[in-house]
Amino acid sequence: MTTLDSQQLTTGGPTLPQEIRVLTEVPGPRSRALAARRSAAVSAAVGSSMPFYAAAAGGGVVVDVDGNSYADLGSGIAVTTVGNSAPGVVDAVTEQVRSFTHTCFMITPYDSYVELAERLAALTPGDFAKKTALFTSGAEAVENAVKIARAHTGRQAVVVFDHAYHGRTNLTMAMTAKVVPYKNGFGPFAPEVYRAPLSYPFRDGLDGPAAAARAIAVIEKQVGAANLAAVVIEPIQGEGGFVVPAPGFLPALAAWAKENGVVFVADEVQTGIARTGAWFASEHEGVEPDLVTIAKGVAGGLPLSAVTGRAELMDAPVPGGLGGTYGGNPVATAAALATLETVERDGLLQRARQVEILLLRRLHALAARDARLGDVRGRGAMVAVELVRPGTTEPDAALAKRVATEAAQRGVIVLTCGTDGNVLRFLPPLSAPDALLEQAFDVLDAVFADAR
Ligand SMILES: *Cc1c(COP(=O)(O)O)cnc(C)c1O
Repeated sequence: MTTLDSQQLTTGGPTLPQEIRVLTEVPGPRSRALAARRSAAVSAAVGSSMPFYAAAAGGGVVVDVDGNSYADLGSGIAVTTVGNSAPGVVDAVTEQVRSFTHTCFMITPYDSYVELAERLAALTPGDFAKKTALFTSGAEAVENAVKIARAHTGRQAVVVFDHAYHGRTNLTMAMTAKVVPYKNGFGPFAPEVYRAPLSYPFRDGLDGPAAAARAIAVIEKQVGAANLAAVVIEPIQGEGGFVVPAPGFLPALAAWAKENGVVFVADEVQTGIARTGAWFASEHEGVEPDLVTIAKGVAGGLPLSAVTGRAELMDAPVPGGLGGTYGGNPVATAAALATLETVERDGLLQRARQVEILLLRRLHALAARDARLGDVRGRGAMVAVELVRPGTTEPDAALAKRVATEAAQRGVIVLTCGTDGNVLRFLPPLSAPDALLEQAFDVLDAVFADAR
């Protein structure tokens, strides 16, 4: 058996062999020992999808404490887009921690925060003056986008959509659709949050303009544009099931927001930073959001988030109105600058489009021989399959769970999502080699064949 002190377990990063290697039962003995300690020490309310404990990760694999190597089709929920312990990120972080780890930007500012703001202004869609504020989590970015929209408009209401996921803080719980596990027992929730119907082509059969008209009618009747500060939407939904709205839905909504003085916020926490084959998913439909929320993939695994948007909006709150002790921490900003550089240097927008072709080819092939795969959808390295009872749109969450569990046993990390829990989502790191992805799908083919 591979030992813990072997090279691949002490270094991590892209030097790890890019292979699926299952040496023990899963979870192995070391993971089981940790699980026993965990159950006594860690809140049972904090879950983990995988039963094994990480020792190292890089390229497209995660290696566990028992020496098993898994193909990673989840990237820690779309975070390690440039790869785990990507060399540029490791170097930038190492250099920064030797200089200083924290001053608080609100006390003593530093240049990497300013440079990152400049970079995000250039990369987000729209050729207009933009500014940025940095935070730590995705939910915090979403909350701050709402604060900015309210300060700018003097209005209070916020519209979100069916199946939306925006986070777990009080305001973002109100904005998130799914009650269990995200909201159950945690109310009362923030007021002035309203939900509109989404475009969900597999389930509603509407084209984009028709779905937008339906949503706008609900908003006008139940909220009123004059009361509405912001429309907040994921250009492709994340936790909600990787729902890709029908073409034309997002542009129609953005146009309506513009006509009515409503701030259009694209929550690109999951879709941003090369994940969909563009810097931001809004670009696929030519949408220029007033504000963009950014997190997950932006800093190579370090906690960092941002709101980037129209300068006049970003300046609307009173001076000192935005911030936070750790917002734009210098280690995280150094990691983010290195992440953006890695995307450019390694051609990762292009790579995401190649990964899309591979994922769609494998999933369509599987769907052609297995009617339980009802809908294959997504963009770039953000692709999903919705599992249903054959010939219907009735969700099959049990199958999704069974496939994810069995895939882990055979060395592949696959995540589920969707309001009904019946969607398998694929978001590999863009550093994962094709051969590893093909192997992972060979495993999934076998898992589906066996799950009869
Ligand atoms: C993950 C996610 C969030 C919340 O981010 P956290 O960092 O977990 O707070 C918000 N919006 C979207 C679209 C997300 O995918």
